[in-house]
Amino acid sequence: MRHAIFPGTFDPFTLGHLDITERACALFDRVTILLARNSRKSALLPLEERLAVIQASVAHLPGVSVDSHSGLLVEYAGKHGATTLVRGLRAVEDFDFEARLAQVNRRLSPGLDTVFLLAAESHVYLNSTIVRELYLYGDEYLRFVPAPVGAAMQALKAREGDRP
Ligand code: ADP
Repeated sequence: MRHAIFPGTFDPFTLGHLDITERACALFDRVTILLARNSRKSALLPLEERLAVIQASVAHLPGVSVDSHSGLLVEYAGKHGATTLVRGLRAVEDFDFEARLAQVNRRLSPGLDTVFLLAAESHVYLNSTIVRELYLYGDEYLRFVPAPVGAAMQALKAREGDRP
């Protein structure tokens, strides 16, 4: 059983993240999308809602599950029998940071390797920060996120709009 973890903040989960998940799904028996709970960043969607909309976005993919974790990634991997981490690479700019992260994780857990999957050409420019920025100015952000994520963001916008 080859179990891989795709860790991240996913704030929000974009079509780029979905693309990497689909590619990982073709390579591994099990893929866990793992949301970092201890991120210092304040999230747009609350954790429970992020979990639910990611779950809905990957419902068509066999062997993919969604979970969250607040400790070290290597601890979660050990506990759940995962031997691989999956990360996406968009451009050469991602490489430096990702390589350092992979080396640290390997140092912490020598059996844990990181596999890098190349983003689809159409998603190389896409990141969660851009989506959050677009969210502030209209509906164009909807083009870049799976439908369940877009629906939750629209509902959030409506709630924020109702506030006095
Ligand atoms: P983190 O919070 O750890 O920076 P993110 O939640 O932003 O991570 O992203 C998780 C992973 O998805 C990272 O490996 C990142 O490189 C990858 N990723 C983000 N956007 C894209 C994209 N458009 N195409 C492919 N991979 C992406």
